[in-house]
Amino acid sequence: MTDQSTLANNHLEEPGIWVRVNRPLSDFKGRPALFLDRDGVINADTGYPDSPEKIIMIERVVPLIRHANRRGCAVIVVTNQSGVGRGFLSWETFEAITDHIDRRLADYAVRIDIVLACAYHRDGRPPFDIDDHPMRKPNPGMLLRGGALAGSDMTASTIVGDRPGDMIAGRRAGLKCGWFAGDDPAIAATADSTFPVRPLGSDNDDLLA
Ligand SMILES: [Mg+2]
Repeated sequence: MTDQSTLANNHLEEPGIWVRVNRPLSDFKGRPALFLDRDGVINADTGYPDSPEKIIMIERVVPLIRHANRRGCAVIVVTNQSGVGRGFLSWETFEAITDHIDRRLADYAVRIDIVLACAYHRDGRPPFDIDDHPMRKPNPGMLLRGGALAGSDMTASTIVGDRPGDMIAGRRAGLKCGWFAGDDPAIAATADSTFPVRPLGSDNDDLLA
C-alpha cells in the first residue's frame, strides 16, 4: 500500500512549495525550456479542480510539448495553487492530479519534466497566508528555480499561459517571449519592447528557436 501522504510530502521544499523532477535533467543543460502554466493551458481552468476526475485536458497543448520533447527542451510546469493554501485540496490530491495529467500526456507519448507549484496566497490558511510570495506568479521564483534545476538557457526560453501573471513572471524571469492561450484582453498589455507576447496559434515553429 502506497502512502500518498509520504509521497507528496517528499516533494515539499517548504509548506507551500512543491517541486517534482520527473527524470534526470543533465541533457537539458544550456537548452531553452518550455514553461507551461497548468490550468487554462494543459487542462481547462474549471476553478480549483480537486480530483483527477475533474481534469479536462486541452489537447492543443500536446503538439507544443511534443515539439519541446523532440528538441531536447525541458518542459517545466509552473502553477499557482492557492486552492491548496485556501484548504480546497491537499498536496496529496494535487499529486494525484499531477500523476493523472502525466498519464494522460503519456497516452500521447509526450512528457513533462519538472512540476513546480506554489500554494502561498494572502487569503490562504496558515502557514500558507503569505502575500506576494516570491514563488507565486507574477513573481518569477518558480521559473527561476525550474530553470536552475534544468540548467536552462532562460534567454531562449518561452512561457505559455492564459493570465497576465504568467506573462509578467516570464518577463521578470528573463525569458525570450510569452505565448498566450485563451482570450484575456489584459494579457497583450503585459508585453514590452524586451518581451513580446503573442497569441498561441498555428505558427508555433519558432516557439523554441
Ligand atoms: Mg492559468
